Amino acid sequence: MKYISTRGQSPALSFSQILLGGLAPDGGLYLPETYPQFNDADLTALRGLSYADLAFAILSRFVDDIPAADLKAIIDKTYRADVYAFSRAGQDAADITPTLKLKDNLYLLSLSNGPTLAFKDMAMQLLGNLFEYVLTKEGKTTNILGATSGDTGSAAEYAMRGKKGIRVFMLSPHKKMSRFQTAQMFSLQDDNIYNIAVNGVFDDCQDMVKAVSNDAAFKSEYKIGAVNSINWGRIVAQVVYYFKGYLAVTQNNSQKVSFSVPSGNFGNVCAGHIARMMGLPIDKLVVATNENDVLDEFFKTGVYSPRGSANTYHTSSPSMDISKASNFERFVFDLVGRDSDKTRALWAKVDGGNSFDLNADGYFAKIADYGFVSGSSNHAHRMQTIRDTKAKYEVVIDTHTADGLKVAYEHLDANVPMVVLETALPAKFEDSIVEALGQAPERPAALNGIESLPQKFTVMDASAADIKTFIVKNV
Ligand SMILES: *Cc1c(COP(=O)(O)O)cnc(C)c1O
Repeated sequence: MKYISTRGQSPALSFSQILLGGLAPDGGLYLPETYPQFNDADLTALRGLSYADLAFAILSRFVDDIPAADLKAIIDKTYRADVYAFSRAGQDAADITPTLKLKDNLYLLSLSNGPTLAFKDMAMQLLGNLFEYVLTKEGKTTNILGATSGDTGSAAEYAMRGKKGIRVFMLSPHKKMSRFQTAQMFSLQDDNIYNIAVNGVFDDCQDMVKAVSNDAAFKSEYKIGAVNSINWGRIVAQVVYYFKGYLAVTQNNSQKVSFSVPSGNFGNVCAGHIARMMGLPIDKLVVATNENDVLDEFFKTGVYSPRGSANTYHTSSPSMDISKASNFERFVFDLVGRDSDKTRALWAKVDGGNSFDLNADGYFAKIADYGFVSGSSNHAHRMQTIRDTKAKYEVVIDTHTADGLKVAYEHLDANVPMVVLETALPAKFEDSIVEALGQAPERPAALNGIESLPQKFTVMDASAADIKTFIVKNV
């Protein structure tokens, strides 16, 4: 299996070759040259498998340059009940992504039972183990540099802590994350984890990362790597739980299922698109946004108008506060018939700060063939959905999942099960839950008191020179 760039001007590479990188050299995103297919018999053979065995059955179709026994061992080490231990009372942690039935044909798929209580652990934990394996094998090391406003940074740190050959330098805006998120990251004492609290906002952190990445000489001398949401390893890991969710709510493969996905960078729902292209009987893929509704606008009109950070709202579902969906190019590449010249022309517009319109070429008319529908949600909807869900089903959901559920209700079909992806546990967004319900959400016992643990971090001004000096000193 080779991987090609959506922009068609980079050589095709193997899985291990693209694993540690980000963008392809031509600025595009990697995709497999074809999607492996699962027919009826293949799907039937997946029924009853454990999460790890299911993951192996799927991922082994995408990875052909890691020996099967090694890949199996990496997957078995990743998807263990004790790693995804924060399941709700009554759920079986061994399911890794248990489903929770709200009512007939309406389910939550719990993707947030990992160490940082958000779905990003599902892929990042695998990435940590894959990185360590590939780096060890090649005798290499990497220094991961990232910026976070909360979920990504903590998922990366918990995935990479203690891993051989990997250091993580994570920038976050000083005193701007929630106390819980700060404690999650800063209480890590591992030698290979460096938390850097930047005097500034998230954009300042991101600018520092960009400045370092744009310094090619520094980047190569200090082996600067990234684990951002365009990483192919993250996308492919996420394909697995669409299969898991599908198999959990169906008896046989003639039943279609819809998924509603709280979306920001389009990484999660892109994995759903790939699962559908592989033959998983998915009816609708519901793209749910918050007030930052660039994707909803596209799926309703065919016009994609990314916005700048000045026009991005800070909302109570902060992990979806994104107005330029970095994985969206992967879907558009498929939508335009995998025409890389076309994709390159479209992103020349986007990268130049402009929008594009897919109506004229007739591409948007094909959108229904891909199952996509959309909707958006706002703060009042989230609060109402959290209250309703508690009142009707005795289930407390977080603000992002509430966006997904709110939009799912707009696309229900009596004959098709709807699975809403639960992308974070409510404990992670305590203040919003208190606002909605007047009481704090339950917190997993193991995380009680996390705010009073000793914290390890370095405060720094928003300066690219300062972060470079810091990296040089610590590698
Ligand atoms: C990252 C994140 C999202 C958005 O996922 P994308 O892959 O960026 O679309 C939604 N909810 C939560 C809780 C997240 O952390």
